[in-house]
Amino acid sequence: MLSAMRIDVLTLFPAMFKGPLTESILARAIDRKLLNVKLHDLRKWGLGKYKQVDDSPYGGGAGMVMRADVLVKALEEVGGSPATKWRIRRRGHESDRGKPYRIYFSPSGKKLTQSRVERLARKDHLILLCGRYEGVDQRVIDGWMDDEISIGDYVLTGGELPAMVLIDVVARQIPGVLGKGESASEDSFSKSFKRKKEYPHYTRPEEFRGMRAPDVLLGGHHKKIEEWRKKQLR
Ligand code: SAM
Repeated sequence: MLSAMRIDVLTLFPAMFKGPLTESILARAIDRKLLNVKLHDLRKWGLGKYKQVDDSPYGGGAGMVMRADVLVKALEEVGGSPATKWRIRRRGHESDRGKPYRIYFSPSGKKLTQSRVERLARKDHLILLCGRYEGVDQRVIDGWMDDEISIGDYVLTGGELPAMVLIDVVARQIPGVLGKGESASEDSFSKSFKRKKEYPHYTRPEEFRGMRAPDVLLGGHHKKIEEWRKKQLR
């Protein structure tokens, strides 16, 4: 029996996730209970009549900052208190099983790579915090996050697209998510490709507008095809 990976997403814009989670492979994974994604609207924990989640930055400057008290209330309700994390570390436990792994998305974070994705896919439970405005109060990152991840050296308007990227790339690693004949272990950056980019693909017709598919692929000699593909890895 395959167990589902749980992903809780804390966001101000849960509706943004509708397309990616309701189509194709991710929709099928959710339907087959291999992936359990819960979207939480951060406004639920907002303050006062207007459900305020942000405030002006100490020290001045443009933009707003997401408040620590609001975010930590949300994090604790969704995934338990940080004391759990610290207790487990002090006792020297190696295993993270069952404990949520909290990720904040930020351009200043560690770059998301395939090997990082493979490590994250081994977790049972992820909590993803999507920033908006200028980002979140640093105390949330220092005290409550296990990881800070960037999807590239550019600035997006929010952490929702990075969260969707992370859900997609992690889901492909969950056993049973990809269909028969598809395998994440034979893709670009996989261990079996020595973290290199994969070989080129061709299909019918053999010749298209004067361009022929490589003869070696048409010959049906499996060993030669394998050797050719290995040479093409970049
Ligand atoms: N003031 C921030 C800076 O200069 O680094 C940018 C904040 S950005 C407008 C708002 C939110 O989008 C961030 O808090 C983060 O959650 C998300 N974000 C933007 N670019 C990102 C990236 N490259 N990777 C991951 N998250 C990103």
